[in-house]
Amino acid sequence: MPEKHAFLSASASHRWLECTPSAMLENNLPDTTSEFAKEGTEAHKLAEKKLNSWIKSGKKSSRFKALDGEMQECTDSYRDYVIEVFNEEKAKTSDAQLLIEQKLDFSRWVPDGFGTGDAVIIGDDTLHVIDLKYGKGVKVDAVGNTQARLYAAGAMDTFGMLYDFRKVKVHIYQPRIDNISTADYTVGELEKWMEKEVKPKAELAIKGEGEQKPGDWCKFCKVRGNCVARMKANTDSLKQTGFANEPGLLTQEQIEQALPILDEIISWAKDLQQYALDQALEGVKFRGFKVVEGRSNRKVLDEPGLIEALHKMEYGDDVIMTKPKLETITNLEKRIGKKLFTGIAMPYIGKPKGKPTLVPESDKRPEYDSAETDFADELGGK
Ligand code: SF4
Repeated sequence: MPEKHAFLSASASHRWLECTPSAMLENNLPDTTSEFAKEGTEAHKLAEKKLNSWIKSGKKSSRFKALDGEMQECTDSYRDYVIEVFNEEKAKTSDAQLLIEQKLDFSRWVPDGFGTGDAVIIGDDTLHVIDLKYGKGVKVDAVGNTQARLYAAGAMDTFGMLYDFRKVKVHIYQPRIDNISTADYTVGELEKWMEKEVKPKAELAIKGEGEQKPGDWCKFCKVRGNCVARMKANTDSLKQTGFANEPGLLTQEQIEQALPILDEIISWAKDLQQYALDQALEGVKFRGFKVVEGRSNRKVLDEPGLIEALHKMEYGDDVIMTKPKLETITNLEKRIGKKLFTGIAMPYIGKPKGKPTLVPESDKRPEYDSAETDFADELGGK
């Protein structure tokens, strides 16, 4: 379940364990949310209801409504998986326990560190922490996953005084891509990792100290667009190809050296551009640059209306349709004639506002949201 953010959150742990100053650099910057995150929250709420209902009644209820069929199926299969793990432990000891939405406190090692275990099962000699992941964009592996390990350590610390388990098993259940991944730890292994690795890094992170180290973990860092270390790493990696040493054309060897680093360089350059655009929209002026309305394409806003209007003018489906859809605007213009088509289609076609874009000042387009743009809009555009 997504947690409320602690300064050193489990979900960002991969980042602050690798780049300890990142937590301080990101602090106070707003969280961004997405449709995917909202969907994940809904799925977790539904899964929680289904499991609690089973715990109370011993029956798998079908009375809970889901946003869609996929969510219904996925939360059913997650519930069944949790019940299956629980029943396996129950077969070993009748004292086995199933807890839903448990706070897992790992603040013994990380100041204010906590997470929420979607399902925790306390068995005979094994404690299970099951994490439902509703996303499907990235396959999540339990092995080596620092968030899962912190949850495991939190569960170990929360229940270790009361129960006599020696092992902790973390389960990642990611139903939309049929991914079930598990990792096993002994209590000793987790203790050691938390003491030797996590605690010292958390102490640095909380003070904003340590090495600012770029890597895969920059991808979701809030300062990825304006981070000096990331810019340096990318420009250094380009220099290492040796391109600056001699004039002329790139050698095959230099291209081979450049190819593996291009994805990261492109991603960093886009992040930097986005950061500059966001700042410019906040009113920051970058010398030689301005914000303009980006390009956009014409769109048919009322397709049935346009089809009817074209039929009235006796244009058949053989001319205007590309099965089962209306032809593109460009093709319709070609077939009917630009002027005639514009006369018929004007009421049904529009041009969405282009996204703001940062461009050199020499660009001919007027500044975004300037009086000129507003005036042009009132006149129906230039
Ligand atoms: S962008 Fe990368 S290097 Fe920079 S602070 Fe964030 S995690 Fe560290």
